[in-house]
Amino acid sequence: MNEHIVDGMTKPGPVTGPGLAQDLEAPSHSVAHAISVFAKKVFDFVFPEEEGCVLCGKAADSRHSEEVFFAVICGDCLGRIPFVQEPICEVCGRPLRGQAVDITGRGHPSSIGDRERLKTRASLIPGVEGNASDVLGSTGTPGRAVCSDCGKQGRFFLRARAVGTYDGVLRDLIREFKFYGRRDLAEGLGVLMAREVSQDIRMRRCDIIVPVPLHPIRLAERGYNQAELLAKEVGFCFGTRVQDSVERLIGPGEQNKLGRQLRKDHIRGAFNVPYPARIAGKRVLLADDVITTGNTANECARALLRAGAAEVYVIAAAISPFEQEWLVH
Ligand SMILES: [Zn+2]
Ligand SMILES: [Zn+2]
Repeated sequence: MNEHIVDGMTKPGPVTGPGLAQDLEAPSHSVAHAISVFAKKVFDFVFPEEEGCVLCGKAADSRHSEEVFFAVICGDCLGRIPFVQEPICEVCGRPLRGQAVDITGRGHPSSIGDRERLKTRASLIPGVEGNASDVLGSTGTPGRAVCSDCGKQGRFFLRARAVGTYDGVLRDLIREFKFYGRRDLAEGLGVLMAREVSQDIRMRRCDIIVPVPLHPIRLAERGYNQAELLAKEVGFCFGTRVQDSVERLIGPGEQNKLGRQLRKDHIRGAFNVPYPARIAGKRVLLADDVITTGNTANECARALLRAGAAEVYVIAAAISPFEQEWLVH
């Protein structure tokens, strides 16, 4: 049997092929989870240690640090992470910065004219850039604030959320984690993602967590799938099973260098669920490190729904903020 490295340990199960859909974790039972949490608490009690920040490693000043699930994060790191701020797109969770907002609650703007008009109207509403709840529909009830991307093309996932914008210290941490072998950063990023999940009852109740897969070539280069490490941290926080259920069919190639539309076309059909029976009827929480355009998560969600998943949600460590050129359609 082939072997691949997961989180520093050699675990059975090939990256692709018959073993792909093997559960990365033993099926979680609430009892097993409770025991593992209890064991950690006992260990911490018996061997108390000066806990450092899981992100920067510095001794955390207890007055300003915060325990997020089982990890301590110092006030310095918490203060520098660009957490996502309202208003955000109801669907993809991206911060809205005054661009097209569906203020009618009746559907999505369908033409450039509509979008321009909505943009103008949105900009006339006091506080629209400060608070999504100020975006009122024609009935006087809060309308759904959606970004122009989600409004235009729709999404296969029901909701995506990220810890912060892909910027500043968060971008630095993710780059270290992803490109420089800093697997240890999965814990800090993962518990922050879990905290985000805990805010949303539907995301919290998902049956399984599925990492966005890497292509086998990229996995071989990097040695680990960063999304999988994050998924396992989130899974540990909630006692939710992590299931490596999706395979990526299209290689890394030139994807990052392609323009937006080309990239979107390139990613279409890039994912496959080889064992649909393991997904059927399940509420899936898809985990990734960064949501950029949202197309990758969207295509994964499409493959999962096609395989029979009941619902798909997405959690990520970061989401790209809107860029100026993205406002031009
Ligand atoms: Zn820190
Ligand atoms: Zn959106």
